[in-house]
Amino acid sequence: MAMERELLKSLAKKPATLCYPSEKATPVEGIRAKVAWDIEKCIGCGLCPQICPSKAIELTGKGSEAEITYYLDRCLFCGECVDVCPTKTIKTTSEFELAFTSRTEATIHYKRSKPSSNRKEKGC
Ligand code: SF4
Ligand code: SF4
Repeated sequence: MAMERELLKSLAKKPATLCYPSEKATPVEGIRAKVAWDIEKCIGCGLCPQICPSKAIELTGKGSEAEITYYLDRCLFCGECVDVCPTKTIKTTSEFELAFTSRTEATIHYKRSKPSSNRKEKGC
């Protein structure tokens, strides 16, 4: 009898699951997902590749000319890089649908839009 009661109650309820991918859940606040760089803010301190436990970050160049390569297929979404960055260059996004078909797709290069240099140009 108890089981029949439960069955009738369930029939009246909406399904607990979503019909993914046509229906998508809103990511919860504070979700640990893909991270992203606002590379123009990076000062090339080297802390993020140093702290990354899975070697998902590669830094090339120095100082204000530094660039980042992010290997998404190695990332554990731990957020350590976000916490350590002194210039708040790295942010956690809410992107969690991260399927890819090749490692090339999972490799993201953050290059600067314009060359930055502290070198003073010679005046005439
Ligand atoms: S979130 Fe963690 S694993 Fe991913 S790049 Fe940052 S430090 Fe590395
Ligand atoms: S921790 Fe921040 S400032 Fe330092 S290299 Fe990484 S992104 Fe650049």
